[in-house]
Amino acid sequence: MEHVDILIIGGGAAGISAAKAAAGAKVLLVDRKPSLGGVLLQCIHHGFGKNKSGIQYAEELTQDLPETLEVALNTTVLSVSGNKTAILSGKAYGKREVAFSQLILAAGCREIPAGALPIAGTRPKGVYTAGQMQEQMNLHGVLPTGPAVILGSGDLGLIMAKQLAQAGLQVTMVEQGRYCGGMLRNQRCLEEYPIRLICSDTIAQIHGEKAIRGCTTRNGAYLPCSTLLIAVGLRPERELIEDLGYPQWLHLCGNCNAVHPMVEAVVQEGKQAGAAAMKNIRGSL
Ligand SMILES: Cc1cc2nc3c(=O)[nH]c(=O)nc-3n(C[C@H](O)[C@H](O)[C@H](O)COP(=O)(O)OP(=O)(O)OC[C@H]3O[C@@H](n4cnc5c(N)ncnc54)[C@H](O)[C@@H]3O)c2cc1C
Repeated sequence: MEHVDILIIGGGAAGISAAKAAAGAKVLLVDRKPSLGGVLLQCIHHGFGKNKSGIQYAEELTQDLPETLEVALNTTVLSVSGNKTAILSGKAYGKREVAFSQLILAAGCREIPAGALPIAGTRPKGVYTAGQMQEQMNLHGVLPTGPAVILGSGDLGLIMAKQLAQAGLQVTMVEQGRYCGGMLRNQRCLEEYPIRLICSDTIAQIHGEKAIRGCTTRNGAYLPCSTLLIAVGLRPERELIEDLGYPQWLHLCGNCNAVHPMVEAVVQEGKQAGAAAMKNIRGSL
């Protein structure tokens, strides 16, 4: 069976940084997407590092990758087992089994979908997570129809509210907390654009059969809409390691460790994970 020193799952900011810190070792970096960068690639807004866009930040980060690094794109890690092997499935070569000495999980996080929320009604066309819509708009040029309602006023909700308002859509945000949830710099869009924010409320019902036509809040407000974005939070993506416990050969970094609002912290954790994996390899030699 093929063997690598370090297997890294996830080629976002965390995985790339870990790979750079592990220069010299035989490293395999795997990502299910066609390019390295992870969530950075769908962020056209500025605010990464010294006010770069996510795309620019990813371009910089992916420069000077170590020569000993093998990158497998369009490849998904299907499973990891306690005997230090992983099953990969890739477009180019089908299934591939790889043994590793160290594993770095940098698989990012997953949005909480509409299906997981206690909202009455079906989930017709027009209901998306905020990240799905960000990807549709920024990578595929798809523009949703308005009016739009966004549930959740964290950073991702605010970034999307601004983008939809800039595209000319009428936007209403609904927030269960008493105040807006995101960073101050993202909250500015509420003053710059006619975005309505309803606090201390949530969406109780979705209306529409084939396509959404509106929703009702818990306090009884009816909000007509053709697009509903769910932006209620992110969960670290750790399914692959659920049954493994925390053996010494396993390192977590980036948003699969804890959800980070700023990319610098993700890069830092990636570097630490790469360095820790290298230390273990040297120790075992
Ligand atoms: C919408 C949004 C806006 C943000 N805005 C800012 C900002 O303005 N400024 C700032 O500093 N930070 C911002 N951040 C934070 C920062 O960009 C992210 O926290 C960081 O980029 C996350 O990096 P990551 O590597 O942990 O995860 P990700 O970028 O999500 O990378 C994880 C990768 O793992 C891959 N993967 C997962 N599972 C598997 C598997 N089984 N097999 C193969 N591949 C797999 C995925 O395809 C993905 O490419 C923002 C984050 C988001 C979501």
